[in-house]
Amino acid sequence: MATLRVAAKPEVAPMKVAQISKPGGDFEIVDRDIPTPDAGHVRIKVQACGVCHSDVLTKDGLWPGIQYPRIPGHEVAGIVDEVGDGVSAWKKGQRVGVGWHGGQDNTCRECRRGDFRNCRNLKVCGISYDGGYEEYMVAPVEALVAIPESLSDVDAAPLLCAGITTYNALRHGRALPGDLVAVQGIGGLGHLGIQFANKFGYKVAAIGRGSENAALAKKLGANVYIDSRATNAAEALQKLGGAQVILATAPSSKAMSELIDGLGPNGELMVIGAAFDPIEVTPLQLISGSKTIQGWAAGTPADSEDTLRFAELSGVRPMVETYPLEKAAEAYARMLSGKAEFRVVLTM
Ligand SMILES: [Zn+2]
Ligand SMILES: [Zn+2]
Repeated sequence: MATLRVAAKPEVAPMKVAQISKPGGDFEIVDRDIPTPDAGHVRIKVQACGVCHSDVLTKDGLWPGIQYPRIPGHEVAGIVDEVGDGVSAWKKGQRVGVGWHGGQDNTCRECRRGDFRNCRNLKVCGISYDGGYEEYMVAPVEALVAIPESLSDVDAAPLLCAGITTYNALRHGRALPGDLVAVQGIGGLGHLGIQFANKFGYKVAAIGRGSENAALAKKLGANVYIDSRATNAAEALQKLGGAQVILATAPSSKAMSELIDGLGPNGELMVIGAAFDPIEVTPLQLISGSKTIQGWAAGTPADSEDTLRFAELSGVRPMVETYPLEKAAEAYARMLSGKAEFRVVLTM
């Protein structure tokens, strides 16, 4: 008599995730089944995930079309744990990360021109699909970043958004070694911007509100510290000859507007601090001295790998505060408070 064999359903261990179930909802720590990667995807055992100010887009439902529940997190560092069909370039056990650039469509006009950073259907990790506030996540291969051996997960994670954004904006700016470059804001972005600007060989002016960060800014590589509360920062920059590039990192349009007159001839205000209110500038301010205001969004995974390699080479590292995944709500509140020194990172 044939025995009826019932295939036992394999025991799938659950994993912990920190999800948002509706716009403006609180973080919920829940169990989910560990996901299986589809073709062209890998599963990552997440080791660390940075908490970025842009996670507010997921938390508060500010991204058009975002679906819930959603797990935020686009500063992910971990290990490839499983590969889907058709994946040959990435191996189990390899250290990888995922940043803001979560995948491109490869078909729009910008992609066909190789400008993947500006894909019209760009996928964002933690917005278009679940991000790194979880123990295991699935990502498409075009989003993957190889992490060098010498960088820890906690150091690599913030470099995948805050790091690449400052590094890429500065290296696409028009400053040459020796030129005056100002970094406005000494926070999550600015403390990395100062370090990169120093290692790029610029004369670095750090601009902060108050004197409390002066010593730290100099330690990070600033040649000059300008306290914008005590002095007119634009005039101070003009006394130094005018800035070739001002990297505007603090999300304050008012502070950015006040700095435009600190630019030298052909100077550019490089805007990376994401604010919602308008920057105020008159046409005459831009016309005299041929000045520009340029926005910059992170970059591709290849740009992220450049960032990590440069950090490895130069010793640029983020300053971090770590929290366990279970304390995602506390970590997020700490990031929002603006008091963290300087990037908040979840560890799994
Ligand atoms: Zn970010
Ligand atoms: Zn595209």
